[in-house]
Amino acid sequence: MRKYLRAAVCRWISRLISNTLQVGVSSDAISDSSRRTFIINLFCLVGVLFTAPLGLLSLFHGYWLVGSGLIGVALLYIGNHIYLRRTQNHVLSGNIILYPLYGLMLYLVYSGGVNGTGHVWIYCIPPVSLFLHGLKRGLTEVLLFTVGLIVILFFMETPFDDLNFHPDLNSRIVYSFVLITFLSTIYEYISSRFNQSLQQVSRKLELAATTDPLTGLLNRRGLAQQYEKVNYSTSNVWLLDIDYFKRINDDFGHELGDAYLKTVAQELTRFLENEQALISRWGGEEFLIILDRPSIQLNLSERLIDVLKNTVVKTNDDQAIQTTVSIGLTMMASGEGIPKALGRADSALYEAKRRGRDQAIAK
Ligand code: GH3
Ligand code: MG
Ligand code: MG
Repeated sequence: MRKYLRAAVCRWISRLISNTLQVGVSSDAISDSSRRTFIINLFCLVGVLFTAPLGLLSLFHGYWLVGSGLIGVALLYIGNHIYLRRTQNHVLSGNIILYPLYGLMLYLVYSGGVNGTGHVWIYCIPPVSLFLHGLKRGLTEVLLFTVGLIVILFFMETPFDDLNFHPDLNSRIVYSFVLITFLSTIYEYISSRFNQSLQQVSRKLELAATTDPLTGLLNRRGLAQQYEKVNYSTSNVWLLDIDYFKRINDDFGHELGDAYLKTVAQELTRFLENEQALISRWGGEEFLIILDRPSIQLNLSERLIDVLKNTVVKTNDDQAIQTTVSIGLTMMASGEGIPKALGRADSALYEAKRRGRDQAIAK
């Protein structure tokens, strides 16, 4: 019984932690905003776990100002996490973490914190600033913080001085802070370059997976993906097939067949450029078009048939490659899904072929 209870508590804690860290993190895990949101969540969690007990300890030892400051920061982090959960605004959330943190750290150095140990916490500043604000802004802020640090340590009379540490300690604090800044900068530089190239590769892969390499049109996967994104209510589905395309391959060769397919794709794109339309190469010499129109567009499809009938591709010895196309049309309701509508468009296309090709049929 106790074993089950322990396992359940562990599961609940691990779910709570993972839930906390994933708040606002988008499915695009390598984007800068996802990375920063994750770090904000992590920092809020770790921040609360550190500042709350340290704050209580300080209060217990009678350091009222430091103690209440730390408890205040813990409450701020909790509030920030709730804010991020509600708004997903990671920019403001990052600022809510960083600016009070700068203030708190400078105050800890100034006052000496608990028994003069306040300065040991300032080393979290460079990595957190650089992670959250990037190289340029993060470094500028760390530089300003360093100036503040130098002013407090060398040019001000502070409670920290009254603790009479060795005089070399002040310069060592600054040196070690600069060293950590330097290392954090290198790390952030490398990791942001790595992330940029990862994003480029990911964009290329995404494009390759959703585009037909020959025509540059969407492929099946690309069409399905784009259709999920657009907000067409009732739309036209056109399944277009080139008539007697095999003959082109047989008479002029596969390469010129490819050239003809490319030209058809260009003509389709040009013809539909003023329409809200998704144009895809569905396979071989078949093209599937989804048109954001509330009624069946038979006339428009017949005009397209005329345009393609007059489309000519010339061979090297000036022979003209020319053929016709057939189109099967149907209407698709928004929730219906492509496969069902495709079935009707396909049977309309079959009918157009059966009736002699070079025509459009609606079902
Ligand atoms: P129909 O009027 O009945 O549609 O006749 P068709 O000749 O167009 O149809 P069929 O299905 O008999 O032939 C289609 C041809 O398209 C066969 C195939 O070799 C060719 N094809 C498919 N994909 C490509 C491609 O990417 N490039 C080239 N050049 N040919 C292709
Ligand atoms: Mg075909
Ligand atoms: Mg064909």
